[in-house]
Amino acid sequence: MKVTERLKAGGKLFSFEFYPPKTEADSAKLFEAARELKKLNPDFVSVTNSSSGTLKYRTAALSGVLKAELGLDVVAHLTCVAHTRAEIMEICAGLKSMGIKNILALRGDIHNIEGLQPRRDYSYAAQLTADLAKTGDFAIGGACYPEKHPEAPSFEEDIVHLKEKVAAGAEYLITQLFFDNVFYFKFLEKTAAAGISVPILPGLMPITGYKQMQNFTQMMKVSVPDALRAGIERWDGDKDGMFKFSVEYASAQAAELLKNGAPGLHLYTLNRSKAAIAILKNVKGG
Ligand code: FAD
Repeated sequence: MKVTERLKAGGKLFSFEFYPPKTEADSAKLFEAARELKKLNPDFVSVTNSSSGTLKYRTAALSGVLKAELGLDVVAHLTCVAHTRAEIMEICAGLKSMGIKNILALRGDIHNIEGLQPRRDYSYAAQLTADLAKTGDFAIGGACYPEKHPEAPSFEEDIVHLKEKVAAGAEYLITQLFFDNVFYFKFLEKTAAAGISVPILPGLMPITGYKQMQNFTQMMKVSVPDALRAGIERWDGDKDGMFKFSVEYASAQAAELLKNGAPGLHLYTLNRSKAAIAILKNVKGG
């Protein structure tokens, strides 16, 4: 089923993000997590895509397996900066043949293209979005950034380009992770004022360690509120205490978002199930 059909049906959407594992042991962990998370009847799961252009079929392959073996509705991420248009169309044909009806259209990070040149058929996600829209085969989602995309010279300019992406065919958006809901609510105001009216799913990630917090927040240039930093510092080295704190923090964020009109939740799982299950149990009850 297309994500857009689920959004139109109303109700809150719950989804989980996975990344393609690199080793056999990681594969086993991923499928264990996916089986556990399937029990919660997610509206969809999404599979990330390396933006380096190498291993270009890995996302499609994992998406196909998650759909065929576990019956999950899958959103395949597709980055364009290191792909030619012909490669993109080949990947899309593969996704279509496996019954994948959803693509998250992304530019990808140029710094990930180790030593390789971007292919320059695409410079921005909006161009990929326009190509995908022409096929008519997929519900297309796009990425957005409640704290602004790190490369954008200003929030205003970022939103102008976001609007172009929506005009090109992005039917819903998923946010970069954030740890302070104020950013999301202010972002909704800004996008609405700019005339962007597609649903914006908030992306949340439970933090499970001090190092992880540093890595992600530096990489993604997102802010860490004092209360989160203090909790992570307090529980660093205590696995159970950290898990409990982290789940409580993300659950409180999730509950406030849903209560105030967010169309659902997209959980960045890092291929693990325990925290995601605990958070959804807290917000959905039972
Ligand atoms: P774009 O929408 O193209 O925007 C990128 C930058 O270019 C922004 O600063 C924007 O303001 C600017 N811009 C856009 N159009 C123009 C224009 N015409 N002229 C000038 N400037 C312009 N990365 C991966 O590698 N793999 C993944 O699977 C992946 N999944 C993600 C999922 C989500 C939900 C999110 C939020 C991000 C994800 N990313 C992923 C990261 C993403 O690829 C990077 O953040 C990347 O730098 C930007 O991608 P984008 O699709 O948002 O790009």
